[in-house]
Amino acid sequence: MNTPEKIPSGSRVGFVSLGCPKALVDSERILTKLRSEGYEIAAEYAGSDVVIVNTCGFIDSAKEESFSAIKEAMNENGKVIVTGCLGVDEGVVREVAPDVLAVTGPQQYEQVVSEVHKAAPQPHEPYVHLVPPAGLKLTPRHYSYVKISEGCNHRCKFCIIPSLRGDLASRPIRAVLREAEKLVEAGTSELMIISQDTSAYGLDLKHQTEKWKDHDIRAHMTDLAEALGDLDVWVRLHYVYPYPHVDDVIPLMAEGKILPYLDIPFQHASPKVLRAMRRPANDAKVLERIKKWRTICPEIVIRSTFIVGFPGETEEDFQYLMDWMEEAQLDRVGCFKYEAVEGAVANELPDPVPEDVKQDRWNRFMAVSQKISADKLKKRVGMEMAVLIDSVDDSGGATGRTYADAPEIDGQVHLNGAEGLSEGT
Ligand code: SF4
Repeated sequence: MNTPEKIPSGSRVGFVSLGCPKALVDSERILTKLRSEGYEIAAEYAGSDVVIVNTCGFIDSAKEESFSAIKEAMNENGKVIVTGCLGVDEGVVREVAPDVLAVTGPQQYEQVVSEVHKAAPQPHEPYVHLVPPAGLKLTPRHYSYVKISEGCNHRCKFCIIPSLRGDLASRPIRAVLREAEKLVEAGTSELMIISQDTSAYGLDLKHQTEKWKDHDIRAHMTDLAEALGDLDVWVRLHYVYPYPHVDDVIPLMAEGKILPYLDIPFQHASPKVLRAMRRPANDAKVLERIKKWRTICPEIVIRSTFIVGFPGETEEDFQYLMDWMEEAQLDRVGCFKYEAVEGAVANELPDPVPEDVKQDRWNRFMAVSQKISADKLKKRVGMEMAVLIDSVDDSGGATGRTYADAPEIDGQVHLNGAEGLSEGT
């Protein structure tokens, strides 16, 4: 269980947060609301008046993890509210745990809070029930996720996110920037920008212009990156699709305004497979653009994820991906073997790839990617780089990250003789 912080006594709410950073931000919002109403966030099931489980339902293994968390909370406590992606289908949750108090879907903060009110009423004491200015966080103080939009307008065939979270709904740019400022004032040194599709930010708002400080600013990824760059902390962009305007943020990286780091979920390279997946920003010239980005900003690090074994992927398609990868020389790569997700359109596609072929392709793809990554890391030997410290130990050691490493998903830097450093240095 997560243990955000102790507060004066009141009704106690246990919280289990599963899933991606977007779900984590949902958890933080619910916790902030409950904390502002005077609830205590409990570290143990046993002492809690009610337990909230924020679930992930993206793929089968995530669902299984969510089901076991719900069962554990029921066994240990018995008063459980389920929310998050799995909550879209109440019937499925109730099959596993018929006696949960309530089931709500993703982003249904108000419903979750009102279910907590019913299960554990709490009188409001404004003088003691204070919330830190940046809200409650499940990440360490020195880094924070900032969610700039919900939902997605695309319909990739392997993905059920739009049916779980709806179409793109961007937050107004002033609200995003104000939140970012508050986080920095509260000690955050690194802001990670997340959404389902960061490049599409503001499209639904028709990129409306608002006043920010002494100038106009559009709800647009480029304006957002520039304004965040003025905050003088690390700014890291995640889930960026390679639309043409991504080219405009590369000079900001070269100027040091935002981190020279791009997380682009390419998923494949073969135009045929990308079309079959119905991927957005399916740009045949992306290799040329990556080369150009590296000319403008040589230190840029690109991380990505790929899927092998999508229905209909032939050996020729896979070889295209391997050749593309050799050319693209991406720094950080994750790869998934295609897995059918309940409710996804891709389940209906013909020509499924046999499991042993998927495994073989995965092995071959990872071998190439790992070699590229290792060769790139070797070039860093002897370099002096800024490191943000994530943790220190009792024997003078510390662990941190460079600009090339996002927390949880990339690498780490281990330091000896780090006495005197502290978390967030
Ligand atoms: S871009 Fe595609 S994979 Fe990403 S959330 Fe939207 S539909 Fe899903």
